[in-house]
Amino acid sequence: MKLAGRLDRLPPYLFVEINRKIAELQARGKDIVDFGIGDPDLPTPSHIIERICEAAHDPANHGYPETDGLPELRQGIAQWYERRFGVALDPAKEVLPLLGSKEGIGHMALCLIEPGDVALVPDPGYPPFSMGTILAGGEPYFMALKEENDFLPDFEAIPDGIADKAKLMWLNYPNNPTGAIADLEFFEKAVHFARQHGLAVCHDAPYTEVAFDGYRAPSFMQIPEAKQVGVEFHSLSKTYHMTGWRIGMMVGNADMVNALFRVKSNLDSGVPQAIQYAAVEALRGSQEHIAKHNAIFQRRRDKLVKVLNEIGLKARMPKATFYVWARIPPGYTSMDFAKRLLDEVGVAVTPGTGYGKGGEGYIRFSLTISDDRLQEGVDRLSSWHGRRR
Ligand SMILES: *Cc1c(COP(=O)(O)O)cnc(C)c1O
Repeated sequence: MKLAGRLDRLPPYLFVEINRKIAELQARGKDIVDFGIGDPDLPTPSHIIERICEAAHDPANHGYPETDGLPELRQGIAQWYERRFGVALDPAKEVLPLLGSKEGIGHMALCLIEPGDVALVPDPGYPPFSMGTILAGGEPYFMALKEENDFLPDFEAIPDGIADKAKLMWLNYPNNPTGAIADLEFFEKAVHFARQHGLAVCHDAPYTEVAFDGYRAPSFMQIPEAKQVGVEFHSLSKTYHMTGWRIGMMVGNADMVNALFRVKSNLDSGVPQAIQYAAVEALRGSQEHIAKHNAIFQRRRDKLVKVLNEIGLKARMPKATFYVWARIPPGYTSMDFAKRLLDEVGVAVTPGTGYGKGGEGYIRFSLTISDDRLQEGVDRLSSWHGRRR
């Protein structure tokens, strides 16, 4: 059998070695505190689960769904955007439910990228931005997210030749993995840059509701001209702790929404309807848990960041997302440092280079572990530092 060459163009999976090491240590009975998992540890709120169960019993939900989803869901999404961001969307033309936003992000490249085309991709960044581009036969051009620029890309640093050639630009704020945020002024600049160079913008925004210290993240769609150039991907995964149910959405430019609909209608048959009804319940029902969950993440954030800075791992206090992006001491690669933490104290973190070359020099901690385990991890890091001095 000869597999397609595009598979060879995917970079090797960086975490193989470190995951093997974790498994080995655990098999030997070693207790590992795992800060590597980016999946909320808190459960889906129970009123949402109730709705799934109820809808699952209804035979009307046992058949194939439609690719573009139930009208109630598209309306629910549009109303949520209106309520939350003051953004008006046409539920018939500017909203598309997804099987989790990762699916839509990956398939979006098929709508815009032809072999040899360029997509501008943040580095470090969420891997599906570049992988989707590569699978479509395109070339990612990596925009460095530097700490001195508050982890925002510098549009002026992108050569004109590249910007003019690019078809698409990916952005993601609040940002995974750096925890950085963007304001409306930055989004305005992005729209201007996109219009100047004739490229489409895809903004990935699953963390707008995971925010601290009273911070309210804006939507890219709040820029009046955003709909002319782009779309926003959002998800119920992080806001409603629904990662396992697989539901997200794309909103904005009607041509891009229709293009992704056409690709998807040939590849999948939509989101299971019971899950769609649960999403309607999530978007329209009580939002009380959001503040409660954020208070839990905020407490964990405060505890972790304090200790990291005490032991010389320089971390900024993130205003949003459940990640802490910490600079490691000079003299290590982020992979070597992650391995040392694992070997010497049984603490697992994600090496920054898992998100691209621009992640070198950093490691990512996720706040999605229980308070007890977080305390245990923090204690281990402190005593390790004490021993090394
Ligand atoms: C978690 C995450 C997503 C969303 O994932 P889905 O569960 O597929 O909706 C998208 N982008 C980033 C940057 C993420 O961290």
